[in-house]
Amino acid sequence: MKKFLDNKLFRYLSVLLFLNSSSLPVKSSSALAAWEIKTNGVLELRTKSNTNLKAYFQKANQISGDRFWIDFPGELKNPRTIKGNGPINEIRLGKPNKGKTRLVIEFKKETYLKPLTWRLVGLDQNRWRIKLFAPKYTFKKIGEGQVVKRIVNIKENQKSIYKKKNNFQYLKLPDVKQNQFLVIIDPGHGGPDPGAIGIGGIRETDVVLEVSKIVKNLLSKKGVKVSLTRTNDVDLDLHPRVSIANNTDADIFVSIHANASRGKRRDINGLETFYYRGWRGRLLAKRIQKQILRVSPGSPDRGVKQGRFYVIKNTRMPAVLVEIGFLTGRLDARRLEKITHRKRLAYAIAKGILEYLNKVG
Ligand SMILES: [Zn+2]
Repeated sequence: MKKFLDNKLFRYLSVLLFLNSSSLPVKSSSALAAWEIKTNGVLELRTKSNTNLKAYFQKANQISGDRFWIDFPGELKNPRTIKGNGPINEIRLGKPNKGKTRLVIEFKKETYLKPLTWRLVGLDQNRWRIKLFAPKYTFKKIGEGQVVKRIVNIKENQKSIYKKKNNFQYLKLPDVKQNQFLVIIDPGHGGPDPGAIGIGGIRETDVVLEVSKIVKNLLSKKGVKVSLTRTNDVDLDLHPRVSIANNTDADIFVSIHANASRGKRRDINGLETFYYRGWRGRLLAKRIQKQILRVSPGSPDRGVKQGRFYVIKNTRMPAVLVEIGFLTGRLDARRLEKITHRKRLAYAIAKGILEYLNKVG
């Protein structure tokens, strides 16, 4: 019986020792992985996951200016001082005592700070931010390491590119002469002809109609007159599409389509733009192709090509047919499902059109 108890006690002890040693900070390296003070006065940090941080502020005294510091568990290898600029005098990374890391930001004496409003906010399990000063100070960013860790995974990487490009500034579209231009936008297919059917049943007719309507809106805001050959899911033959255009004095004709590959191969993705003839058609195609590629990172550039499609062959004005991606392709389809991507494509097409009108019109 005695022996049993001893054994049990020993087991507990070893567990305790193990737990203890794993949380002993002396042996672990600094939990601070990267930091950056951005031009808008925000300090961002990346730490090890689930780190406890402690932040402090001290008013200026005779020796130094206002100081803000954060203590991190884990020992810093190389204490160092980094010269500041703008409102920041210097940044010091040190070990206040064994097993700790301290990041000190010392401000210049005249800096106006409101530490009572400061809040250290956890963005996720290893990222933090705190706003230290107003962007009224001219300041060049200072930092070490990458606060936002680059994600190697291609899918994730593309998502982050998306996010950046998602903040469209519609106003940034180029200006053109008001009420000077008429553009015909032709959403492909419709009615009993859904066009390509892609992964998950996504239909070309729906995708291109939505994109076309957004293009119309964007161009209208820029003072360009726009006619759509169809505004809902109706059956419209190719011939009337052409006559709608030819009966006006439209400057250009843009037909919008999405692709499907033979055998519905999921590995085939990409964007392409066709014109039938003439340098104007080619220029328009090039401008649009360039812009749609920019909002479709990773999707192959299948190029600007000559094509004999009925709608671009028989229209009198410079005409192009844009293929905004493969509904049967894994990469393109996943994007084309999303309204955000459709908006991006519409923005890109509108931009290409406006650039063309500026140059040629
Ligand atoms: Zn089509």
